[in-house]
Amino acid sequence: MSKKILILPGDGIGQEVTKSAMQILDFIVKRFNLNFVVNTLDVGGTAYEKFGSPIPDKVLAAAKEADAILFGAVGDPQWDDLSWEDRPENALLTLRKELSLFANLRPAFLFNELSNASPLKEKIIEGLDILIVRELTGGIYFGEPRGVINDQTPNYAFNTMIYNEDEITRIAKVAFESAQKRKGRLCSVEKANVLEVSKFWRSIVTEMSAEYPDVELSHQLADNAAMQLVLNPNQFDVIVASNLFGDILSDIAATLTGSIGMLPSASLDSSFKGMYEPCHGSAPDIAGQDIANPLAMIGSLSMALRYSLEEETVANKIDIAIKKFINQGFRTKDIAIDENYLNTSEVAEKIIEILENE
Ligand code: NAD
Repeated sequence: MSKKILILPGDGIGQEVTKSAMQILDFIVKRFNLNFVVNTLDVGGTAYEKFGSPIPDKVLAAAKEADAILFGAVGDPQWDDLSWEDRPENALLTLRKELSLFANLRPAFLFNELSNASPLKEKIIEGLDILIVRELTGGIYFGEPRGVINDQTPNYAFNTMIYNEDEITRIAKVAFESAQKRKGRLCSVEKANVLEVSKFWRSIVTEMSAEYPDVELSHQLADNAAMQLVLNPNQFDVIVASNLFGDILSDIAATLTGSIGMLPSASLDSSFKGMYEPCHGSAPDIAGQDIANPLAMIGSLSMALRYSLEEETVANKIDIAIKKFINQGFRTKDIAIDENYLNTSEVAEKIIEILENE
């Protein structure tokens, strides 16, 4: 049975970094005889300009059919004043919601050769390798009721942080299973000291831990976890958190590595179909200059092979090739210490050369 891959390059550097990932995809399909059907469509501002919608029906239909989606990035200030319906970012939220992509996996790891790019001291950051599992389709970002009341004194606004037990169980399951495949440690983050929803979250995760005796479970309050990520990040293996806390913690973790152009992410549904995208945006400040770092996108391709396309061995080969690329001293502009760096379009060629020589 062939696997379906949908490629959505999007806007700005999304197009450039996706091109690099597609070069690697072409190479591995031929080299390892993979049975993939690949389809590429416009999304975001690029789709809005051509078809009047950032997420045309055709894209949504193809996304629902796909086993894995590679999503570049969307957005540009030129579209910031459009209504929410028409804004490029709407494409991303619609895809997450329509495809029930409830589990967001964001690895944050440091190549020791790049530790000078981190804002933290080398001895604190060395060897950093964390996976943040963030709940993506529930919690306060989607909770009802929500609103702004403008006809009372004083006026007020409100949101609802809500999780049911199924939502907590399914995200915790992904986190426990991820910890089993890594170093066997899981830290669940919430605010059980002040929020009922967090107490509920903690009790369910604690109850589930009996099914995972090989995983060491701990709990941290979100404010402490944010501090611990900066003070002693290496204490963490896998972190699981709600939509809100996971959003904040994953950005802190990404910042620790000092290079947003290196970090991939996966958003999965319950059958492990998913959308794979770099953690960065469309970077209008460098778009079109052929200097974006495509490694986050190439790493996202590797995650797609691992989680949705049942090609773990090929995924490992790509991860090793990325490591060798860095070990051998190759750099892109964002991580270079001098003017000696490769352009976006040259990175895939170099990675393919490394893969060919394995
Ligand atoms: P950004 O991630 O696009 O850029 C932040 C900074 O990091 C910029 O200086 C940029 O040049 C740099 N950068 C990002 N990716 C890089 C890479 N691969 N190589 C080298 N440098 C890189 O975030 P932003 O500037 O806040 O947002 C720009 C646009 O992207 C906005 O329209 C925003 O809405 C959108 N955005 C989209 C996504 C997404 O599609 N998933 C995510 C975040 C932001």
